[in-house]
Amino acid sequence: MDLSAEKQRRLRELVVEAKEILGGCLHPDGRPKTFAELEEECIQVGDRFTTQLLLGRVAERAPDAPSADCPTCGRRGERGPEEPRILQTDRGEVGWSEPAYYCRSCRRSFFPSFG
Ligand SMILES: [Zn+2]
Repeated sequence: MDLSAEKQRRLRELVVEAKEILGGCLHPDGRPKTFAELEEECIQVGDRFTTQLLLGRVAERAPDAPSADCPTCGRRGERGPEEPRILQTDRGEVGWSEPAYYCRSCRRSFFPSFG
């Protein structure tokens, strides 16, 4: 992924905001946090940021067509009700709902977004 200089600048602004949200680098008693403690806080923020970002992008990408091609046989499957999806990602659990499609030939439901 190639980000423009402008997009990189905007991401740096988000980092500044995340740093403000995290707060200071000292414990309440005044001791400085260790590198490992600071790293762990950054990882937690990054993981939460990543899962929320992924969730937003997944929801945007969900197709809303009355039918979709079955990934197994290629025939048209009909749109069914929305079903909850939960994926365990490297950065945590991501949950959303999207329409499932049903293929009569294969007698199975599928999500076109995942094949
Ligand atoms: Zn099929």
